[in-house]
Amino acid sequence: MNLLLLLLVLALLAMIAMLGVVLWRTRRDCAEHKRARELLWLAAKAFDAAEGMCITDRRGIIQRVNPAFTRMTGYTADEVIGQNPSLLHSGRHDAEFYATMWHDLLTKGHWAGEIWNRRKNGEIYPEWASIAAVQDEQGETTHFIVNFFGLGKQKAAEDALHRLAYYDPLTHLPNRQLFIEHLGKAQAAAKRGKHYGAVLFVDLDNFRRINDARGHETGDQLLREVAARLIRFLREEDIVAHFGGDRFTVLLAKLAGSEEIAIRFARGVAEKIRLVLSMPIQWQDSTYVLGASVGVALFSVKGKTLDEPLKQAETALNQAKMAGRNAVRFFEAVMQIEVETRMALEGEMHRAIERNELQIYLQPQVDGEARIIGAEVLLRWQHPERGIVPPDHFIPLAEETGQIIAIGEWVLLEICRLLARMTAAGQALRMAVNVSPRQFRQPHFATRVKAALVATGADPDWLTLEITEGLAIEDIDGTIATLSALKALGIHLSIDDFGTGYSSLAYLSRLPVDELKIDKSFLRGVPDDARNTALVEAILAVARHLHLSVVAEGVETVEQATFLRTCNCDCYQGYLYGRPEPIETFLQLL
Ligand code: C2E
Ligand code: MG
Ligand code: MG
Repeated sequence: MNLLLLLLVLALLAMIAMLGVVLWRTRRDCAEHKRARELLWLAAKAFDAAEGMCITDRRGIIQRVNPAFTRMTGYTADEVIGQNPSLLHSGRHDAEFYATMWHDLLTKGHWAGEIWNRRKNGEIYPEWASIAAVQDEQGETTHFIVNFFGLGKQKAAEDALHRLAYYDPLTHLPNRQLFIEHLGKAQAAAKRGKHYGAVLFVDLDNFRRINDARGHETGDQLLREVAARLIRFLREEDIVAHFGGDRFTVLLAKLAGSEEIAIRFARGVAEKIRLVLSMPIQWQDSTYVLGASVGVALFSVKGKTLDEPLKQAETALNQAKMAGRNAVRFFEAVMQIEVETRMALEGEMHRAIERNELQIYLQPQVDGEARIIGAEVLLRWQHPERGIVPPDHFIPLAEETGQIIAIGEWVLLEICRLLARMTAAGQALRMAVNVSPRQFRQPHFATRVKAALVATGADPDWLTLEITEGLAIEDIDGTIATLSALKALGIHLSIDDFGTGYSSLAYLSRLPVDELKIDKSFLRGVPDDARNTALVEAILAVARHLHLSVVAEGVETVEQATFLRTCNCDCYQGYLYGRPEPIETFLQLL
C-alpha cells in the first residue's frame, strides 16, 4: 500500500515536472516570438525613419523603398520597385564615379560619399549616401541597403556659418578674415608671376561726425551706399572688404609687371575711389558728403609677411589723414615722391607752353664722314623750380592727359618756322620730329601737318616724322592710311626705337616709311657684345632688303661708329657727334 502510494506520488511528481518543462518551453517560445516580433517592428520603424532607404537585390534592382525615399525623390514605391537606381542619376558624375562606387561595394562591402541625384521633377540635389552589402551565411552578397541623408539643411547651415565667419552682415562685403585670405593668395601669385599688386586702405573722412549727430540708422545707410559705390566703380576681380566702422579695403591683385606702371594704376584707382566717395549721398531728404582718405601699399616678388601690405597701407592712410584728409598716400616714400612729382607736373604742364617753359633742343645726325646732315628735335622743359625736366618724365604724362596734342602741335610749328628760316639762309638740314601715338591718331593729323607747312612756308622735303614701332602694330590699316597721307605731302617717315617693339617683317613691309632708327639699347657693347652686334647686323640687312635707310641712335664710341661704317650704315646720331643742344647753340655748330 505504502509502495503504491509512493509510486503514485513519484508519477505525479514526474507529471508535474514534465508539465513544468512544457510550460517553461512554451513560455520561452513566447518570449522569443515576442522578441522576433519586436525586432521586426523595430526594423519596420527604422525603415520608416527620416532618412531615405532603399533595398536592392544583388544585381541592384530595387526591392523596397521607404516613405522618406518617396519624400526625397518624388518616386512612389510602385514607381521604382523593379527598377535600377540609375533612374536617380543626375548627370553630374562621370562613369568613373560609379565605377569606383561599385568597386568599393564589391571589394569592401560598403561605400559612402556625397552624391548628386535627380528627383522625379527633374530637380537635382546633393545628399550623403551610404551603401552596405548584405551577405548570407556563405558570404554571398544577397542585397544592398542604401541610406540617403539630405544635405540641404546641412549645406544651408554651413553656408550661413560661412557667411557669418567671412562676410560683414551690414554691407555683405567680405570681412577682414576673408580679405586676408585673398591677400595671401594674391601675394603668392605675385611672387610666382613676378607682378605687382596693391592694397588700398580707405577711411571715410566725415563718417564719425555724421554717425554721432544723425544716429546709427543714417550711419548704416551711408556705409551701405559706400559699399555699393565701391562695388559699382571697381572691377569685378578687385576685392572690396569692410573692416567694420568706416574702414574699407581694396585688393588689386594683379596690376602690372613694372613698378612704375603698377604705381600709376594704383594711384588711378585710389583717386577714383576718393572721387567717388566725395560725391554727395542723398538719404531721407538730407545730403551727406563723406569724403575719403586712401593709403596705398604695393606688394610683389619681394617677400612681405601676410598682413604687411595691409599694415603699410594703414600707415599710409594715417599719413593721408594727417595731411588734412581727402588725400591719397603711398606707403613707400619713394613712390610717394614719384606720385607727388607726377601730380605736380601734371598740374603745371598746361602752363608750360603759355609760359614758354618748353624748349627745343637739337641733336646732330651725321653721315659716314661725320658731316652733319640733319638733327633730331628733342624737347626739354625748363621748369622754374625743378630745373630741366627730361622728356621721359613729362612726355608719357602729357600722352596720358592728352596735353601731348597741344605740345606736339607747338613743336611742329616751331620746327617748320625754323626750317623755313634755315632754307632762306641757305642752311637747310633735315629735321626729325618725334610724334607720339596719341598725336598721330588724332583725326586729320596729316591735314594739321599740312597746315603747319603751308602756314610757315617750310619745304616738306626737309621734314622727317618719327613714329614708334608699337604704334604701327596697334592699328595697321589706320596707320598705313595716315602714313600714306603724310607721304603724299612729301614728308619723310621714320620708325623710331626699331627692334624694341614686336613688329613682324610682314607688317613692316606694308608701311610706307623711308627709314629705320636702330634703338640705342642695341648699340650697347657693340662690337664686343656678340649678341647685340649680330642684332645690329640683322637690322641693317632687313633695312637693305626693304630699301630703307638706317639711322643708328646712341653712338657713343669710335668702335661703335667704325663697326657701323663697315656695315654701311647711312646715318649716325649719338654723344660721339654731339649732345642735344638748344637751337642757337646747334646752329653755331654748323
Ligand atoms: P628718342 O626719340 O628715341 O630720342 C633719342 C633719345 O636718345 C634722346 O633722349 C637723346 O638725347 C638720347 N640719346 C641720343 N644720343 C645718345 C647717346 O649717345 N647716348 C645716350 N645714352 N642717349 C642718347 P631724350 O632727349 O631724353 O628723349 C627721350 C625720348 O623722349 C625720345 O626718345 C622721344 O621718344 C621723347 N621725346 C623727346 N622729345 C619729344 C617730342 O617733341 N615729342 C614727342 N612725342 N616725344 C619726344
Ligand atoms: Mg626719336
Ligand atoms: Mg629712339
